[in-house]
Amino acid sequence: MKLSNKFSRRDFIRTGSIGLGALAMAPALKSFARPKKKKLGIALVGLGSYSTGQLGPALRHTKECYLAGIVTGTPSKAVAWSKKYNIPKKNIYNYQNFDEIAKNPDIDIIYVVLPVFMHKEYTIKAAQAGKHVICEKPMALNAGECEEMIAACKKANRLLSIGYRLHFEPHNMEVMRLGQKHILGNIKHIDTGNGFTYNGDPNAWRLKKALAGGGGLMDMGVYCIQGARYTIGEEPVAVKATQEKLRPDFFKEVDETVFWELEFPNKLVTTGKSSYNNDWSYLKAEAENGNFELGPAYGYNAIDGSINGSPMKFPQIIQQAAQMDDFAKCVTLNKQSRVAGEEGLKDMKVVDAIYRSLESGKWERIG
Ligand code: NAD
Repeated sequence: MKLSNKFSRRDFIRTGSIGLGALAMAPALKSFARPKKKKLGIALVGLGSYSTGQLGPALRHTKECYLAGIVTGTPSKAVAWSKKYNIPKKNIYNYQNFDEIAKNPDIDIIYVVLPVFMHKEYTIKAAQAGKHVICEKPMALNAGECEEMIAACKKANRLLSIGYRLHFEPHNMEVMRLGQKHILGNIKHIDTGNGFTYNGDPNAWRLKKALAGGGGLMDMGVYCIQGARYTIGEEPVAVKATQEKLRPDFFKEVDETVFWELEFPNKLVTTGKSSYNNDWSYLKAEAENGNFELGPAYGYNAIDGSINGSPMKFPQIIQQAAQMDDFAKCVTLNKQSRVAGEEGLKDMKVVDAIYRSLESGKWERIG
């Protein structure tokens, strides 16, 4: 599909709150000292594949923030990143001296890009160091941890947001508008799937339950749970799930493919699936007076979609740049992010209920 450049990235950032009313339940904030800087400084914690391939490069395109510092346990990465991104030595930390970041006025925001089992610890440490925090998805190992993270940030009077980049992506923002504003009437059904065929290191943290919390559901399924929630604009109440394991020797500890039905208020039931053994990325919505879909729906680029069979004409943007700029703006304006910690918590409540349903074989209530 040929994409039109009719709308600029800035247009989408500006109109970013369209259709998100139902999700934007921002708790009141105490005001904190707002940084008086042209661009806020971000420090990335964990320089693995997402930081290296996406966040570092995206920070070359941000307008409200820049890559001011890094936290890494690997000295060779410190040297390479310092050179590549011109990061001064005083802004480079490791996991032993992390807490000293509290004294560094160059760093306003800490972005936690670590394996899931480390999200809670580093989000809380970051807030206690007086920094605002972005934490990658899935927010934590379970909903209980998410609640602790939200409470710690609130206590430290610091903003917390989750790396939900698709809330800033034009095609996904369009499905939020279509669904939440009932443009084609009420939603009758949604089916969504996300997954990839995992053939990486069999010893990676992603395949260890204690480190990742789970498999394809934690890593890929949260996008589908998000997709259904932000298209409908309401919170699901119950879920029933089943699973399939075709490569049990590889996925010894974590789920491979999970299927679920998600019940929303007024009895609307959506279907979703996540996988480490299938290449999926789509959302299909059927409404009273038509239908719309995304496919690919959840990647970093090449997002595509249609409404009643006609192509959507939106540009591809650097989602991570839009997401980080929005958070920097929130910090400057003392305003909750549209993807605050509460968004991550809501998804983890669904994930927890899916795992309970896989155990019980029954419908489980969410929350
Ligand atoms: P990765 O394995 O490539 O990187 C993890 C980093 O953490 C590495 O640099 C590693 O050295 C470091 N680390 C520090 N202590 C560690 C420990 N005890 N064990 C293992 N690693 C340790 O992972 P990634 O793909 O960069 O993912 C990091 C986070 O980002 C995850 O939460 C993941 O879900 C998330 N992510 C989000 C997106 C997105 O689109 N929003 C995409 C990819 C990854």
